[in-house]
Amino acid sequence: MTIITEERLAIVEAVRDFASTVLAPNAAEWDASKHFPVDALAQAGELGLGGVYVQEDVGGSGLSRADAVAIFEELAKGDTTIAAYISIHNMVAWMIDAFGNEVQRQTWVPGMVAMTDLGSYCLTEPGAGSDAAAITTSARREGDDYVINGVKQFISGAGSSAVYVVMARTGEPGSGSRGISAIVVPGGTPGLSFGPNEHKMGWNAQPTRQVIFDDVRVPVSNRLGAEGDGFAIAMKGLNGGRVNMGACSLGGAQWALERALQYVQEREAFGKPLAANQSIVFTLADMETELQAARALLQRAADKMDEDAPDVAAACALAKRYATDAAFNAANAALQLHGGDGYLHEYGIERVVRDLRVHQILEGTNEIMKLIVGRDLLARAR
Ligand SMILES: Cc1cc2nc3c(=O)[nH]c(=O)nc-3n(C[C@H](O)[C@H](O)[C@H](O)COP(=O)(O)OP(=O)(O)OC[C@H]3O[C@@H](n4cnc5c(N)ncnc54)[C@H](O)[C@@H]3O)c2cc1C
Repeated sequence: MTIITEERLAIVEAVRDFASTVLAPNAAEWDASKHFPVDALAQAGELGLGGVYVQEDVGGSGLSRADAVAIFEELAKGDTTIAAYISIHNMVAWMIDAFGNEVQRQTWVPGMVAMTDLGSYCLTEPGAGSDAAAITTSARREGDDYVINGVKQFISGAGSSAVYVVMARTGEPGSGSRGISAIVVPGGTPGLSFGPNEHKMGWNAQPTRQVIFDDVRVPVSNRLGAEGDGFAIAMKGLNGGRVNMGACSLGGAQWALERALQYVQEREAFGKPLAANQSIVFTLADMETELQAARALLQRAADKMDEDAPDVAAACALAKRYATDAAFNAANAALQLHGGDGYLHEYGIERVVRDLRVHQILEGTNEIMKLIVGRDLLARAR
């Protein structure tokens, strides 16, 4: 069972203050102008949000996964897109902290914790999304270097990041998940370039671009773990990423629910407040129930991560799928409760709906989450 400590309450309070004073007042403008607010990210770094569960010897906050769920929910109430980017950045920082050697940890993690050096996670390719083990980006060994060629698709933070963790094939073509290694490519390495920023439905305050590798040469010593460990490292990173993305969804939806609670008591139709209609009260009750259930499932998954439980991947997938679906539905219900106003930019609800939609797709689609959960059930029933 999760114990809510004084330490967590203090951190969540500081995050709430940051979210309400730095993120929330600017979220609409950053969305409209497609501005990636790197200054605000550096401020988040000063609060310890660049390495929430990174170890303290490299500057991390050393908090639990359960703490992270509470933190990302609170951050997302200010701006779901920026909270979601910080979640991805944390995943990358953690991968280097957890699987890197001492030199790698000391080289890359402190700047990431400060968020002066941003991180990108490079797995998806134009021809390999859900089937991530089918990636073809290659890292060919030449002496003490790898020479990387290929294209990564939909990479968050691309072009602004200082640290790219790239999953590339070091084994033969067709060698599947065991032929993949995780390699750190610093921004600015010759041969590294980026596609244009994608035009998206939401998540406009962070860039999504292709990352293109044209004979990109990095030392073999940039590889995390052993050759062939990359797929396992990528999936372990995603376990936590999925829980945090679920928490970001929860925060956005909780914010939308709070707006709806105000609106239905102020707005009148047919001579009475909207809230005087039983069907509207039922809608609010359904939203609250779904969000509480999502919160409990996310905390359960986070506890399993903290305990390193054997069924952690399934618990994270289950929570991600449930939380991102429940949150999207709740935010959409909040939009409906606002009537025509819900469709206007000035109320902010439509932005949250647009932003939350992609959480059902990335870090593994919700269909893939069901596959992970169902297969785990079947394996345990053998
Ligand atoms: C805004 C944005 C940001 C992103 N950021 C990153 C990032 O930073 N790093 C990164 O590596 N990737 C990132 N992604 C990529 C994202 O993780 C992939 O888009 C996602 O994993 C789905 O892959 P795909 O788009 O290739 O869809 P596909 O794999 O082609 O799937 C298409 C549809 O088929 C379904 N499907 C596929 N296989 C099955 C199956 N076996 N059973 C049932 N249904 C199936 C899927 O659920 C989906 O509905 C990002 C994507 C977006 C949109």
